Amino acid sequence: AAKAAGGNTHRPYDVSLLERIQREKALLAELRRAVEQRDFSIAYQPIVDTRTGRMVKAEALVRWLHSERGEIQPGEFIALAENHGLIGEISEWVFQQVMRDLPLLRQCLGEDFQVSINKSARQFRQNYAGSNTDWARHLSQSHQGGNVCIEITESLLMDASEEAQLILGTYREAGVEISLDDFGTGYSSLAYLKEFQIDLLKIDRAFVRNLQPDSSELALCEAMIVMGHKLGIRIIAEGVENAMQQRLLCEAGCDYLQGYHFSAPLPLHRLIEWARHQNAGAASPLLAPALSL
Ligand code: C2E
Ligand code: MG
Ligand code: MG
Ligand code: MG
Repeated sequence: AAKAAGGNTHRPYDVSLLERIQREKALLAELRRAVEQRDFSIAYQPIVDTRTGRMVKAEALVRWLHSERGEIQPGEFIALAENHGLIGEISEWVFQQVMRDLPLLRQCLGEDFQVSINKSARQFRQNYAGSNTDWARHLSQSHQGGNVCIEITESLLMDASEEAQLILGTYREAGVEISLDDFGTGYSSLAYLKEFQIDLLKIDRAFVRNLQPDSSELALCEAMIVMGHKLGIRIIAEGVENAMQQRLLCEAGCDYLQGYHFSAPLPLHRLIEWARHQNAGAASPLLAPALSL
């Protein structure tokens, strides 16, 4: 009777849960191997200065080079790496690779060129092999602190404030800038912006995506930009995908733009090519000043 009632058939959610667990286990084993073999690469996404139209920074975004599946995006493995103690080693690889790339970047794009490196709150707290102080020391000794920006998220400021304050202090002393990523999506208090001496604030893609004239998203972007500027913080908008978003953000006084409208994340050599084209003599403000009549 049980059989007739379907007792022997798997319920779909059971199957998918089991499958998910098995798939994650397999992925974790592969990720461990990838960490050992350093099967990663960095894609650099241009960040453009709205006043000059030039690329003055780029964000380093890690990719997993999988032998069968090709390039795997961080959305698919960063959380897994964090949950299983692998984020420190991956992040260490990212830092070392950025250090290897920096001389060429400075040579081709200028001594002041800056690379942004993401650091998750989890990784910050684990203070993997003292990496926070090691990075700061390395950057300070090699006089490259000014070429690096660390992107942190609001959750770091919320739950590790005293330790975070200390670590951010060592970066600051090395000349490293601190940028608050995904701003506006978390729960942090605005007071943190001042308390932690944030240098840059990245308006999350969620606000940029629905930017329209007279939209509440535009009001929020304008408010974030005005507030940031009053606190001496420069503003980056991420996820800029079209000319209208570019115009509205420029009119609102945004300092830097990043997104597919300019370029997807690129391998090192393509980034340099892209910059040569973008920064050529023709570079001009992204928003032409209105002609006074
Ligand atoms: P994020 O730091 O907010 O990085 C921006 C993400 O938005 C990147 O995705 C980028 O490719 C994507 N993006 C850029 N422009 C556009 C656009 O115009 N439209 C849309 N729809 N998306 C855009 P990606 O590379 O998949 O990275 C996802 C997240 O993974 C990053 O978000 C960051 O939090 C994390 N991540 C990346 N690399 C690292 C790393 O080395 N360490 C750590 N801890 N996290 C990393
Ligand atoms: Mg980021
Ligand atoms: Mg971001
Ligand atoms: Mg984001």
